[in-house]
Amino acid sequence: MKDESKPILLAHGGGGRLTAELVDRMILPKFRNDTLSKLTDAAQLELESTSVSFTTDSFVVQPLEFPGGDIGKLAVCGTVNDLVVSGTRPVALSLGLIIEEGFDQNRLDTILASAAEAARQANVSIVAGDTKVVEKGAADGLFINTSGIGVRMKGANVGFDRIKPGDGILINGTLGDHGMTIMSLRKGIQFDSPIQSDCAVLSDLIGRLVDRLGEQIHFMRDPTRGGLAATLNEIVTATGLDLLIEETALPIQPTVQAAADMLGFDLLNIANEGKVVAVVAPDAVDRAMKIFRDHSLGRQAACVGRVNPRTEGAPNGLVEMVTRIGGRRIVQMPYGRDLPRIC
Ligand code: MG
Repeated sequence: MKDESKPILLAHGGGGRLTAELVDRMILPKFRNDTLSKLTDAAQLELESTSVSFTTDSFVVQPLEFPGGDIGKLAVCGTVNDLVVSGTRPVALSLGLIIEEGFDQNRLDTILASAAEAARQANVSIVAGDTKVVEKGAADGLFINTSGIGVRMKGANVGFDRIKPGDGILINGTLGDHGMTIMSLRKGIQFDSPIQSDCAVLSDLIGRLVDRLGEQIHFMRDPTRGGLAATLNEIVTATGLDLLIEETALPIQPTVQAAADMLGFDLLNIANEGKVVAVVAPDAVDRAMKIFRDHSLGRQAACVGRVNPRTEGAPNGLVEMVTRIGGRRIVQMPYGRDLPRIC
């Protein structure tokens, strides 16, 4: 059983005895590994490759807990996924906490436990960390920053420059689950069959994909803020090629669609936290689909469209969608990308 709730005090971030106690009691036991346990000023890593990727992300989601996860899980998933979609095997993460004075210690403990569980699933160590406490009102409960470092996966070769006309565009599952879960919570809307965030670490799924298909995977990105529409428009901007997707091929959960309709959102623009868009060589599409569907995070995978050559005379590439009724519409880069504080 947990202790009676105690608030985080300003002194917990002061670097003195209370900080040490918080680290020893709440943080180290969850993340324990040889590198972290040394508590040196900087973690020392031995990397097996000179091809290294490095990424960082801050998490300010509100509310902090939601169906399918919490800010701790999200912070680890977000950084791990940015590494793996770059064809990188995550090696180590840092975890920085900015806590508002008065935050419940048991609540912090639960959030850190879910960050630790996500790191365990991703087979990555948290080797560096920082804890700051700010006065009441100077933050909204808890903010987390995670940075991650990793080495190139064997056989991975992904980038905008590898995308070619004819390539298939795949996604490993349903659109908009994370964003609509957060928005429904904030608006106080409940559904008969509750929706939940897709927040998940993609290491295993993408590891298999790269392992089996290697260079036939041309590009990957996680469609987080701005959703699928942003990712596809980023491809078009970087390559100048046209993309054509099919509305009927988009995997969507009916309850999530209902939430989007009720709140006036287009699911193409809504954030995902356990999804990868993979651009795959034409003759590898069927195998990639099978790898996705054989995995628990890819049961509802779909090939949603293809890459086309640039239209003759057009100044820029375009993302177009064949609609349910057979028309065509342009899928634009979402304005302002998304709603605030979704991740
Ligand atoms: Mg990303």
